[in-house]
Amino acid sequence: MAVPFRKTSKTRKRMRRTHFKLSIPGMVKCDHCGEYKLSHRVCPHCGHYKGEVVVEKE
Ligand SMILES: [Zn+2]
Repeated sequence: MAVPFRKTSKTRKRMRRTHFKLSIPGMVKCDHCGEYKLSHRVCPHCGHYKGEVVVEKE
C-alpha cells in the first residue's frame, strides 16, 4: 500500500479543509412570500408553488 512520503503539515491540512464548507443545497426564495424554501418543493410558509396555491392553510 502506498504511504505518503511526507507528513501533512497543520497548515496544509487546514488549507485543504477550507474547502469543506457547510452549504444548504437548493435553497431559493419563494416567489410569493420571499421566505427561503427548497427548490422544486411547495413553499412551507404560504403553500404556493409556481404561482398558485397548492396547499391551503387552515
Ligand atoms: Zn411562500
